Amino acid sequence: MTARPHEDAAVFDVERIRADFPLLTRRVHDKPLIYFDSANTAQKPAVVIEAVDRFYRETNANVSRAVHQLGEEATAAYEATRDKLARFINAPSRDEIVLTSGTTQAINLVAYSYALPRFKPGDEILVTTMEHHANIVPWQLVCERTGAKLKVAPISQSGELIVEKFVDALTPSVKLAAVTHISNVLGTINPVAELARAARKRGIPLLVDGSQAAPHLPVDVRALGCDFYALTGHKLFGPTGTGALWARKELLRDMPPFFGGGEMIREVRFEKTTFADPPHRFEAGTPNIAGFVGLGTAIDYVESLGRERIAAYEHALLDYATDALKEIPGLRIFGEAARKASVISFLIEGAHAHDLATLLDHEGVAVRSGHHCAHPLMHFYGVPATVRASLAFYNTRDEVDRFVAAIVKVRKLLA
Ligand code: PLP
Repeated sequence: MTARPHEDAAVFDVERIRADFPLLTRRVHDKPLIYFDSANTAQKPAVVIEAVDRFYRETNANVSRAVHQLGEEATAAYEATRDKLARFINAPSRDEIVLTSGTTQAINLVAYSYALPRFKPGDEILVTTMEHHANIVPWQLVCERTGAKLKVAPISQSGELIVEKFVDALTPSVKLAAVTHISNVLGTINPVAELARAARKRGIPLLVDGSQAAPHLPVDVRALGCDFYALTGHKLFGPTGTGALWARKELLRDMPPFFGGGEMIREVRFEKTTFADPPHRFEAGTPNIAGFVGLGTAIDYVESLGRERIAAYEHALLDYATDALKEIPGLRIFGEAARKASVISFLIEGAHAHDLATLLDHEGVAVRSGHHCAHPLMHFYGVPATVRASLAFYNTRDEVDRFVAAIVKVRKLLA
């Protein structure tokens, strides 16, 4: 993927796509909704809503427990999503896909099952300044319990990871590096393949937080060369409470269970319990079955649009919105990386982020304001909060125009 608009952008039929998303027809405060908060959670196409509905109406049964027809159908539908996820990120094997409640659980699984049993005083975990709390706090908890230390690779003012500093920080004491693929605040696309090559050369496993990348770019874990990849379903146009961890087979094989309970065992005796092979070893209890059926449908939907085409369309829209916002006096954009996804964080001189977002909401524009679960990044820029507009393939230039007009209007009210 490149940072430049793609020729195909013109053939992306956004009006037809918008018709697939029932919620986009809503009005808010008597204005047509402009939903610019997809990095927070994405809207769902009707096919996903219908798949969940149909599952409960026609199939509902628990997975892997029943031999009856419904149980078999439920298990097949649930397991089909594992296959789809494996294909979606080009994983070498479906057995390397652990189904989780989202990225947060996926990263915690690595923290508790991979890092906690291994790390000791003197070891280090390398993260970057631009991480979401989900890719910071689990490592801090590991550090507290093991005596390991968190190390932070810096970013530039434009919001790019300083790759040489990251590579320099990969010292022998680093036992794991954890990096976001795309920053949820800055939109920066990190050069994951390059980071993975450097980490691999030094024998350091690399975890990638793919929460923001999976909905926007083609993801190929083999080409990236990372060791763990976490993603979340609700940002991928699927239901909440779904997600996945991909990990190399040899890493998963040596990881003890994180949760104990049904579904993850081979045999339970009071004296000793043995565990199922990965990925089931990490999937204790009844999962969000209907949610995963919906996620499978969401993946089919995204693939039907084509991820290269999605990325190209969103890039053109990002450029269009960025150019328009830059015309507004006193508006500062946070994150101007050369490779950037469709997330724009900004502030307007003299206005508080929450006031801006509240006034924009009254204009029908849904944007997020706050620290975006990235306190250290806010600290880096010396601001408590930003406003974030995050665009998806169902957004349009017309919405961008109305968003910009709304900012111009509310800016006057705040001045
Ligand atoms: N990582 C990043 C970069 C995110 O943007 C988010 C969600 O905002 C998460 C992790 C956490 O995802 P979830 O809450 O779905 O587990």
